[in-house]
Amino acid sequence: MQLDEALGLITEIPDFPEPGVLFRDLSPLFAHGDGFAAVTDALAATVEPDVELLAAVEARGFMLAAAVGYARGLGVVLVRKPGKLPLVAGRVHYELEYGTAALELPEKVVHAGARVAVVDDVLATGGTVNAACRLLEDAGATVAGVSVVLELAALDGRSALGGRKVSSLQIA
Ligand code: IMP
Repeated sequence: MQLDEALGLITEIPDFPEPGVLFRDLSPLFAHGDGFAAVTDALAATVEPDVELLAAVEARGFMLAAAVGYARGLGVVLVRKPGKLPLVAGRVHYELEYGTAALELPEKVVHAGARVAVVDDVLATGGTVNAACRLLEDAGATVAGVSVVLELAALDGRSALGGRKVSSLQIA
């Protein structure tokens, strides 16, 4: 399947999770074997050759990073919501549109100097991926790039990510 066709499986859902928000639902894409393969291959191609490890943002980032990791022969570190990891290297709190959230990095998985690529499904305001990047950098790693399926340009997540390299398969 062509990448454009695969990305066309993403569905727009008005007024979710709040009135006025247009939610992009990747469920039909994930459930389509050829579509998921096309997106996996395209995301895998955005990961720089010198990357040593992928960082996956909970939860849809997990499945994307697992597939990309398999395709590229790379391992995955799971960046998780609080309360899931037994041994925590660090925690970063960040702002959501309504309220705050936090992400944690497991201990003894990311070594200082490692080149890591962050994988997630959607880049919106950038708060989530920026938190993941900060956790990795606090652990001494270098964020070699951020790879997402879909970037919502109006929310300008790129600015929140500073100068970090961002690769998105589709910009909406
Ligand atoms: P941000 O922190 O505002 O960039 O939001 C990104 C996070 O929220 C990602 O982990 C996404 O999984 C999720 N997200 C935000 N908007 C959407 C959407 O329209 N569809 C699916 N996930 C979204």
